[in-house]
Amino acid sequence: MAIQWFPGHMHLTKKAIQERIKAIDVVIELLDARLPGSSANPMLAELTSGKPGLKVLNKQDLADPARSALWLTHYNALPATRAMALDASEATPARRLIAACHELAPGRGGMAKPMRVLICGIPNVGKSTLINTLASKRVAKTGDEAGITKLEQRIALADDFYLYDTPGVLWPRIIVARSGYNLAASGAIGRNAFNEEEVALALLEYLIRHYPDALATRYGIAVPVGVTDEQVLEAIGRKRGAVLSGGRINLQKAAEIVIFDLRAANLGRITLETPEEFAIWLAEGQKVDAERQLKKKKPLGSPG
Ligand code: GDP
Repeated sequence: MAIQWFPGHMHLTKKAIQERIKAIDVVIELLDARLPGSSANPMLAELTSGKPGLKVLNKQDLADPARSALWLTHYNALPATRAMALDASEATPARRLIAACHELAPGRGGMAKPMRVLICGIPNVGKSTLINTLASKRVAKTGDEAGITKLEQRIALADDFYLYDTPGVLWPRIIVARSGYNLAASGAIGRNAFNEEEVALALLEYLIRHYPDALATRYGIAVPVGVTDEQVLEAIGRKRGAVLSGGRINLQKAAEIVIFDLRAANLGRITLETPEEFAIWLAEGQKVDAERQLKKKKPLGSPG
């Protein structure tokens, strides 16, 4: 199963951003530091192309610091792009944000030409939390359910610096199968839109290869080379007493435990993709997507 998640009302968000972007100097895209590639919205890149961009890797407290450094280097090497990592414990991120925006749009500033910045991000990436911190008062609703920020708002961070919240909700568009799993594991996708067992297995498959020690430490299990994701999920279930009558492992329960532990950083600080890996996944995803589009265009009855 590839997780598909692109609700129909996205075209409203698209129109609203197209309208707003005309009077914007810098676009801040909030990304989840654990999955920067997957938490980016490909449509946003199209809509904002030509505008300088600040990539903010949020929730860095949950992410692997060495990998956050890789992502920052990756983004900082892109044209007209700056990147910084943040987490909700940073009490005054405004100064860093403002400085980065001025670097990106040096011609703006002062009362005659105030800096106008659009802040975007997929649901649950921490946008409301950041806006609240920046505004130093509760202006945005924060919540655990995906998609709670809806109304556009303007926040003055200085007399000549305006921050606009994205109009509408920017759902991720999932071209890469692995992105669907990573988004689901991170909590960015509504609980009912994915199968926990499948997501946990995909997550374990990655953790076995990249973070075997984290699994061994957290669950007190052996993670030998060649072990499968199914075997590890069963071992976790057994260790945690997720056992059904008859002795079978309750895989649903075991899956929920793994996903919960990732979200709560009980496995330590983990990042589910590197820039290099994501580039490969994206290229594969785009190829499949292009083939699918091509098939759709073929007239009925044509071969293949
Ligand atoms: P929004 O949908 O993008 O506006 O996201 P929210 O601001 O509502 O945040 C979603 C969840 O992520 C909430 O439970 C926040 O407490 C949590 N969160 C936000 N920023 C951070 C952060 O930097 N670190 C951690 N660990 N959690 C965060």
